[in-house]
Amino acid sequence: MNKAFVREPDSTDAYCPHCGSQGETVSAVTLAAQLTPACQQRLSTPAQFCPSPQCRVVYFDAFERQVTVDELDHAVYPKDPDAPICACFGFCRDAIEQDVREGGVTRTRAAVEKAKSADAQCQQRAANGRSCVAYLQKAYTQCRSQMGAN
Ligand SMILES: [Zn+2]
Ligand SMILES: [Zn+2]
Repeated sequence: MNKAFVREPDSTDAYCPHCGSQGETVSAVTLAAQLTPACQQRLSTPAQFCPSPQCRVVYFDAFERQVTVDELDHAVYPKDPDAPICACFGFCRDAIEQDVREGGVTRTRAAVEKAKSADAQCQQRAANGRSCVAYLQKAYTQCRSQMGAN
């Protein structure tokens, strides 16, 4: 059987209609926590999160309907670099910068431990509905290379 034209129903090969980044599938739980009811109604599920920090589209669906940054009532990471990286505990980039300045990882490591704990609510609080651990680690690496360059 030729499978070339068979599309998986849960395919994640969705690309942002604005910037072309590959989307990250988000659940209805995440959308309900992040969006106003009016914005939610505009999107069909599964919707996608656009992970590009530069792109103003936050969510889009298979019909290229979009919700943009200015339609949210709060700032989300990584669209806004100053928004909490782990919104569950309000952990922001400045704490990572402090770690890097001190040459340590104390704050970042504590945040990672918390994000892994049962108290974390990343599915509701993170814009992409995923564990904040990946973004924490990525932000630390970015921060270290940026600050090290100075
Ligand atoms: Zn995008
Ligand atoms: Zn979190």
